[in-house]
Formats: sequence, C-alpha cells, structure tokens
Amino acid sequence: MRKVLVTARSFGKISDTPFQILKDAGFEVVTHPRRGPLDKEEMIPLIKDVEGVIVGTDVVDDEVLAHGKCLKVVAKHGVGVDNIDLDAARRRNIVVTNTPGANSLAVAEMALCMMLAISRNMVEGDRRVRSGQWGTITGCQLTGKRVGIVGFGAIGRCLARLLKGFDCQITAYDPYINAQVAAELGVQIVSFDELLASSDYISLHVPNTPETRNMFSEEAFAKMKKTAFLINLARGGVVDELALARALEEGEIAGAAVDVFSEEPPSLDHPLFKAPNVIVTPHIGAHSREAMDNMSTMAAQNVVAVLTGTGCANIVQ
Ligand code: NAD
Repeated sequence: MRKVLVTARSFGKISDTPFQILKDAGFEVVTHPRRGPLDKEEMIPLIKDVEGVIVGTDVVDDEVLAHGKCLKVVAKHGVGVDNIDLDAARRRNIVVTNTPGANSLAVAEMALCMMLAISRNMVEGDRRVRSGQWGTITGCQLTGKRVGIVGFGAIGRCLARLLKGFDCQITAYDPYINAQVAAELGVQIVSFDELLASSDYISLHVPNTPETRNMFSEEAFAKMKKTAFLINLARGGVVDELALARALEEGEIAGAAVDVFSEEPPSLDHPLFKAPNVIVTPHIGAHSREAMDNMSTMAAQNVVAVLTGTGCANIVQ
C-alpha cells in the first residue's frame, strides 16, 4: 500500500477529516509514537518507504531527504518552510507544498492580542495579583496609534483588516508587493527606516530568509521610538534576541511580545526572560482550533493532489 508519513504534531487533532482524506485516496498513514518535531534519527527510518511526508517544524535537510527513496512530496503543515532544505528537495525532484492563508487569521488575531496585552500590562498585572501585589499599572491605548507591519503578505494584510476597528494609521514595509494592494486596504507602503522611526507598534510577518535574518538588530532598535512596542510572530531568526534584550533593558523601546525564538524551546537562561516588559509565548500564533483544522485539511489535500497528479495549488517549488 502507498504510504504517507505524518510527523506534524497538530495534524488531525481537531477532526478526523484530514486522516480520512489520505485514507480515501488510498494511502496508509504512518506516524511515530511520539508526534513531532522528530529528530533526524527518528525521522530517517520512517521516511524510507513513504511517498509523502506531512511535517511541522521538524528539520528536513538533505540527509533526511536522501533516505526518502520513493519520496515525492514534503507537505508543510503551516506556511514557513525554513525548516526544509528547498535546494536539496529541488535537486531530488521532491515537491514542497505549504498551507498559505490557512492560519493567517489565527496569527493576526494573536498579534492584535499581544499589542493589547503589552500595552495594558496584562501579563504583569496577572503576576502581581497572584503574588499578593495590588495596585495600578498605567498602560496606553492602541486606538489611533501608528502600526508598522513588516511583511505585507497573508498575515500582514489580515492584521491590517483587524486594525481598522482601532482607527490605527497603518504603514507597511514589503519590497515585494504592489503598493496598490496596500492602498486598497488603506495602508501606506514606506521604507524600512521610515517604518522604524515612525511606528508606535511594529509587527513582524516576514519569512525567515537570508535577507530577513537579524533584520531587527542593535541598529534597528536605535532607530525606533522609545515608546514603541515590537511584536514578533514571524521567526526567531528575524530578531537579534540579545540586541532586543539590551534595547529593553536600556529603555530604547518600551516593550516586546515574542512568540518565536531562534532556538525552540529557548533555554531557561534566555536573555529575554530577564528583560523588562516582555511577553513570551511558545510559538502558538497559529494554534487556534479553526486554523489547525484548516492547515491539516489543506496539507492532506496537497499531498493527495501531488501524489495523484490532480494539480496542487499550493506548491512552494
Ligand atoms: P506570506 O508569504 O503570505 O507573506 C510574507 C510577506 O513577507 C510577503 O508579502 C513577502 O513579500 C514579504 N517579505 C519577504 N521578504 C521580505 C523582506 N526582506 N522585507 C519585507 N518583507 C518581506 O506569509 P504569511 O502567511 O503572511 O506568513 C509570514 C511568516 O509568518 C511565515 O513565513 C512564518 O515564518 C510566520 N508564521 C508564524 C506563525 C506562528 O505560529 N507564530 C504561524 C504562521 C506563520
């Protein structure tokens, strides 16, 4: 029987439909007893005789792909494909797919939630009440503020739509989109430096690429307003975490909310944990029930479409 390996931890967790899509198309589903992200040593024996694999953040490098003797498709359960060696996949004629848009609303809502939570000291307030400290902490309002969105793709645009209800002035930095797309949403495209200097909130929604790596460095923080907040739901590598911790400690920016880390899980002595006014979450931006179900269904459909040659709309390459 033709086989598909599923390592993505959240695949099929909300409903059985995604598993059923694979089974109805005639595939046997193979899983590891410990759902991912799997180590290479766990993934390699399982990938040997499968035609497709549905992965989360597992590392799929050339060594892993080399063991996939009949592997034809790597389907990402999500959008960011930086854990997959795309060059190696291309060389080996393995198609890579993802699930664009499936989790955009979940991540955009989380960005909005983080903006409000950091503005009104919600997490600090919770800590204080639990530790017997009562008293006011004065925050600021989001309404009417200037929000800079870095990366104006599916999530960035979704966030811009949500922010309309807050009467924010929205700018975006994205050298790869048509300014018309932004204008239709009432968003002004600006240079990176202008976005840094003028934003009260900066929300990151770029992929992790050589170009975006450490985009938020000591130099970038120095250009931001002292009252500004940074929201990172993109990837850890986009922000120099040491420089962010220093910027917070030295009051160069007012606060940050961080869902993604350069190493996940981060070590307990991570510099950001000691920095003031930071909210941290364990890479849960996409984890709404609705987004999980959308992603699983789309990933299963992508695999079936590639393996049955019926045309897949979500091919990364
Ligand atoms: P998308 O591809 O629709 O949008 C990404 C946008 O970034 C594109 O418009 C692209 O032109 C732009 N971009 C690329 N390089 C850039 C650069 N150097 N400077 C500025 N803009 C640049 O992707 P999306 O669905 O909006 O997701 C964006 C990213 O969010 C993903 O790549 C992933 O890393 C991250 N993400 C995180 C979570 C989470 O759980 N925290 C969930 C989903 C996605």
